Amino acid sequence: MTNTKSDEEILQEKKEKKAERDRKYRESAKGKANRKAYRESEKGKAIIKAYRESEKGKESIKAYQESEKGKATMKNCIEAYKQSEEGKAKREAYYQSEEGKAKREAYQQSEEGKAKAKAYRESEKARAAKKRRRKSEKAKATVKAYNQREGIAEKNKARARLYGMIQRGSIKKTNICTICGDTTTQCHHEDYSKPLEFIELCFKCHTHLHNEKRIALT
Ligand SMILES: [Zn+2]
Ligand SMILES: [Zn+2]
Repeated sequence: MTNTKSDEEILQEKKEKKAERDRKYRESAKGKANRKAYRESEKGKAIIKAYRESEKGKESIKAYQESEKGKATMKNCIEAYKQSEEGKAKREAYYQSEEGKAKREAYQQSEEGKAKAKAYRESEKARAAKKRRRKSEKAKATVKAYNQREGIAEKNKARARLYGMIQRGSIKKTNICTICGDTTTQCHHEDYSKPLEFIELCFKCHTHLHNEKRIALT
């Protein structure tokens, strides 16, 4: 056994030392700052762009995006952006834009949108929220104020009487909207003092009719 190192061993040691120095430099504030400056320089940008567009770069990006780490990072980035003031403002602006409104309406009318809305309505979460809303002081106050409005007692009485008769089967609903033919209907009274005189309207036509009446009154 001699103490003399072989050339190979010396080379290996040198390599390791250099790697250690490089690593330290990369992790140092100076190294980080230099790297950032390089990334932001024209030359750095051009090189990064060229790399991203190269086959190797594309592959590497794709592999990263599909990796657990990449997915997690992407998710965090999106989440952080959503929570940021900029993200919130952008989302709000999009919601209010014509494009956003049109997209939302189209989605709500789509099979997927309808199914999602239905699933939500039937979810525990929606039910709990509805219950909370109904129990809130604000909701109670609204109901109370509504019930105290003129004519509401009579209206409630007329509805209760009619729905009682429907439930017992003494009156049969046709379930066809008088205006548009839709097959889910509500009963509309022109005169609440005549509970048994009613027409059937779908939710849309019914709301529309009442809105028109309200406008006509004001
Ligand atoms: Zn209708
Ligand atoms: Zn009505």
